[in-house]
Amino acid sequence: MNAPDERIDIEAGRRLFAQDCRFVAGADRIEALPPIGLPEVAFAGRSNVGKSSLLNALTGRTTLARVSHTPGRTQQLNFFDLGGRLVLVDMPGFGFARAAKRRIKDWTGLIERYLRGRPNLRRVCLLIDARRAAMAIDRAFMERLDAAAVSYQVVLTKADKVKPPDLKRRTGALGAELAQHAAAHPEIVVTSAHAGIGVPELRAALAALAVPSQFD
Ligand code: GDP
Repeated sequence: MNAPDERIDIEAGRRLFAQDCRFVAGADRIEALPPIGLPEVAFAGRSNVGKSSLLNALTGRTTLARVSHTPGRTQQLNFFDLGGRLVLVDMPGFGFARAAKRRIKDWTGLIERYLRGRPNLRRVCLLIDARRAAMAIDRAFMERLDAAAVSYQVVLTKADKVKPPDLKRRTGALGAELAQHAAAHPEIVVTSAHAGIGVPELRAALAALAVPSQFD
């Protein structure tokens, strides 16, 4: 991408994420999903990966994290309307050290059905902690996304915790791994919610999936 185009995209991302972001629905079962409508981008990752922090950094608000961290709402898909142009979907974190088997089964069923039956799901952002790189549970999720033919993009979080040469090595290795996955987006977005790294770039990438505004 050349410089002027990139600048335009960054501006489009800024404009989109400056819009109102409103909680519209929480679904703990398939029947509770909101009707299919606007393009959706879902955020997934292991618990503690920094998903809430990144959603807050993207939207410049704390509403999303507050809603999604509310006990009882943490095991559901939470839908947020962003300016009537894109829906952000906060998926429950995975990694279930303490969860009951029955709950894991329910969760897996809901996610599976959501992923396979949502034609307006444009992308899943798979968040991975930059300090740990991909773990078995991330790989298992990638395989499910491949099988469901859902396009996904890896977003590294907490990049402020990793030295630049290590980050470069890690993204290189992960990029090579992603090339083996049918549904993976080749580009990895490196972010830090705390340092603000990569946030404008991720906004711009997501703006490209939104309903265009009259200014785009
Ligand atoms: P979630 O469980 O995936 O929603 O993760 P949270 O957003 O609640 O963050 C989990 C932990 O990681 C918290 O202690 C955050 O302060 C920390 N964290 C989140 N984002 C960053 C980041 O960009 N840099 C660093 N250093 N820590 C982060």
